[in-house]
Amino acid sequence: MNTSEIALVHDQYVMPTYAPELALVRGKGSWVWDADGKKYLDFLSGISVLNLGHCHPRVVKAIRRQAGQLMHASNLYYNELQPKLARAIAEKAGNGKVFFCNSGAEANEGLIKLARKWGAEQGRHEIITFHNSFHGRTLATLTATGQEKVQKGFEPLPEGFRYARYNELESVKELITDHTAAVLVECIQGEGGVVPADPEFLTDLQELCRSSGILLLVDEVQAGMGRTGEWFAFQSYGLEPDAFALAKGLGNGYPIGAFCAATQVMDVLQPGSHGSTFGGTPLACAAGLAVMETIEKENLLEHVQQISEYFRERIEKQLSRFSLVKNVRGQGLMLGLVCNGPASDLQKELQAQGLLVIATAGNIIRMLPPLTITKREVRKAVQILKKSLDALEERSGIEPDEQEKGNGSE
Ligand SMILES: *Cc1c(COP(=O)(O)O)cnc(C)c1O
Repeated sequence: MNTSEIALVHDQYVMPTYAPELALVRGKGSWVWDADGKKYLDFLSGISVLNLGHCHPRVVKAIRRQAGQLMHASNLYYNELQPKLARAIAEKAGNGKVFFCNSGAEANEGLIKLARKWGAEQGRHEIITFHNSFHGRTLATLTATGQEKVQKGFEPLPEGFRYARYNELESVKELITDHTAAVLVECIQGEGGVVPADPEFLTDLQELCRSSGILLLVDEVQAGMGRTGEWFAFQSYGLEPDAFALAKGLGNGYPIGAFCAATQVMDVLQPGSHGSTFGGTPLACAAGLAVMETIEKENLLEHVQQISEYFRERIEKQLSRFSLVKNVRGQGLMLGLVCNGPASDLQKELQAQGLLVIATAGNIIRMLPPLTITKREVRKAVQILKKSLDALEERSGIEPDEQEKGNGSE
């Protein structure tokens, strides 16, 4: 099937919650091919899912092997891989216990339940989150998400969520009461436009949570798993959250989510209090283990830090002359090209020229390349960016004239 054939069936039978344009059929490393045979450099990675690139041989091998041995066991039984992956995550975090689920929303939903259960005895149930955050699409997580457009039409929303302003400690302080159980925060807001937290804000926030006797919860769904050059983004801020959520990059394309809770809260959820049929299957955990082993074996955390610097330098050197380009922000390989105006035209042009990225929060080009990206691929991406910006400038310079001449002729 070519793209238009796929689109035809899709539009007839799939709910229109997304508006796709490309049909992707094959991927290898940092590259993907569409149904019409066109090749793209993938600087989106399925929104920070394919952190090792498409079809990484280690992950493919682990999934193939486990698929032929035991795919699903039910959480009524032990399986060998779940504790191994839990140990790997807890060790990287320093300590804790892990619950496995299947998505980012479900992982954050778990954090919310954990905080409520923990606070129940003290009459604490409220959770403070932030404006422009993103935590998922279930009823509780869309309520935690501080964006009206995500919530509109789904009222009544669950009670017990309050919204503070990101990077403003005072606005958190104002919301803390005897009923507050936790603060849930992203170290870098992804959907919100690649907005990094100020280091001081997060350290002060942790201090505030400790002194107020409430939990600090971190959403690492997008920024975790090596994306920022650390296993978890909170580590680059020197934080020790009470619990954090993972998903996206954990399975490199195999759906898996998790939340990890530190010593003081890790035994809050007892048998019968939480569950998930598909959580932590041997197959999902085999993928997760392969991902963690690969990040270690290929020294990817260090690589991310180095290549990030290289990428940013290239952008600053080669793109700052364009009037549309304001600056670049973010951390590791979670980068936002801040534009002086809407980013959607640039995203479309980049796609036409063979580079996949995502326009976010109006004026941001969000770039989330695989952590395995090479210098050569970075140069290629910057070259496409340059070419696309040139094309846009040229068009915006010529268009008014052309439009006048061309009026009515087509
Ligand atoms: C993507 C994302 C989620 C939701 O994950 P799903 O797997 O789509 O449910 C939650 N939090 C953050 C920060 C995300 O980027």
